[in-house]
Amino acid sequence: MTAPTTDQLPVVVIGAGPIGLATAAHLILRGIEPLVLEAGPSAGTAVRDWAHVRLFSPWAEVTDPAAEKLLAPTGWTRPDAATYPTGGDWAERYLQPLADLLGDKVRYGATVTGVARAGRDRIVDAGRDEQPFTVHLRTTVGREERITARAVIDASGTWSTPGPLGADGLPALHEKTATDRIAYRVPDLNDPAVRARYTGRRTAVVGSGASAFTTLALLADLAKEENGTHAVWILRRGIGTNTYGGGDADQLPARGALGLRAKAAVEAGHASTVTGFRTQAVEREGDQLVLVAEDGRRLDPIDEVIVLTGFRPDLSFLSELRLGLDERLQAPTALAPLIDPNVHSCGTVYPHGVNELSHPEQGIYLVGMKSYGRAPTFLALTGYEQARSITAALAGDQEAAERVELTLPDTGVCGGAGLFDEPENAQRSGGGCCAAPSTLQIGIGAPATASGGC
Ligand SMILES: Cc1cc2nc3c(=O)[nH]c(=O)nc-3n(C[C@H](O)[C@H](O)[C@H](O)COP(=O)(O)OP(=O)(O)OC[C@H]3O[C@@H](n4cnc5c(N)ncnc54)[C@H](O)[C@@H]3O)c2cc1C
Repeated sequence: MTAPTTDQLPVVVIGAGPIGLATAAHLILRGIEPLVLEAGPSAGTAVRDWAHVRLFSPWAEVTDPAAEKLLAPTGWTRPDAATYPTGGDWAERYLQPLADLLGDKVRYGATVTGVARAGRDRIVDAGRDEQPFTVHLRTTVGREERITARAVIDASGTWSTPGPLGADGLPALHEKTATDRIAYRVPDLNDPAVRARYTGRRTAVVGSGASAFTTLALLADLAKEENGTHAVWILRRGIGTNTYGGGDADQLPARGALGLRAKAAVEAGHASTVTGFRTQAVEREGDQLVLVAEDGRRLDPIDEVIVLTGFRPDLSFLSELRLGLDERLQAPTALAPLIDPNVHSCGTVYPHGVNELSHPEQGIYLVGMKSYGRAPTFLALTGYEQARSITAALAGDQEAAERVELTLPDTGVCGGAGLFDEPENAQRSGGGCCAAPSTLQIGIGAPATASGGC
């Protein structure tokens, strides 16, 4: 039997999240065979982890046009475009039907552990570009497999690698031995066990993004019902005009409202704020924890800590490939300047595609949440456009690959962790904030009023 030529091999997509599945849909419409490898047991495994969180984007902005095209003949209809799904809705009403339609093109319980050029480690040049990729995977029963791929599109997200409590980006002293009291996710207070964990307790919330806002709002709701429940909001920076996000000026009203709910929690006294606090260590004091800052400040003992300091990409299984990544954001080099929260507001995150997402190693792409590295501003809509452009390029349709079909509008106020880190800078307005949106044409039904999730 003759071995398949590289062009006949599947394109391996890592992850059956929103962007991985959309990528598979685009590949199918382009006549290219996808194989989606998903570590978890179902579509949207990461999204299901935050099933209880309501998206700040409506349905119109979280489904992909190619996926809709494939789904339409099955009788699937998009839920009301103007309503806001929870993570659970997103997974059950869109991602799983899409994955079911793809059938055996999606493999569950398949964790990718490595990607390399077949027979070539990172330093070998000879014949490199002509070689297919070898994708190493581990199944749920611990079996190891190798799959040969024409190209690899890594849509594995960043959900499994949350940022730590330590202000320097590394775990705080003793953080790893206090994980019985430290969580790294927005709590699901509808779960009785989780609710009991925070009821009547003092909980430190560390972080300054949408997840921190959501958590402060949830804990404030709990405090209204359960005496003694209190949040201590810990910020590396000071409280300034941008602290609570864009508010009413945010073109994603639901996201703007999150910041306003956090503000209300503080103003009502359900959450107190600690500013300019750079956590260095966590110490046990009886049954409680004490957070210690780099400047020696010690907070009053708290019962629980929720760390929401963002996510970072797991690049370990790509170490044999020649990636071009920005040293700060860990995003593709050409993309990083477009999404850098130190320079750009969410509104100036320009639509981008294969050109910005290419690496020195041809045929490997990071897409979706992972493509943004540590930048907190990724939106599903951006990922769908990435998928469209990359798959067009793989199909040899360079004109379509380079055409940008997305408008990214403005947010009210943005503040990247870098720009606003210093407490004394808290009053500064954002770099390039509220700049006019790009005016390119969007390729899906509703106008894309989405902007980055600062
Ligand atoms: C709480 C929350 C709310 C959000 N709200 C919005 C919103 O309102 N609007 C919006 O546009 N965006 C929102 N986002 C941002 C973004 O759209 C989502 O995070 C989205 O899920 C990203 O999709 P993804 O496919 O890139 O990654 P993910 O959804 O993280 O999917 C990655 C998949 O890869 C799998 N995987 C990971 N590692 C491996 C491996 N080694 N091998 C095989 N499989 C692997 C995972 O199990 C997972 O299923 C939100 C994000 C969060 C966390």
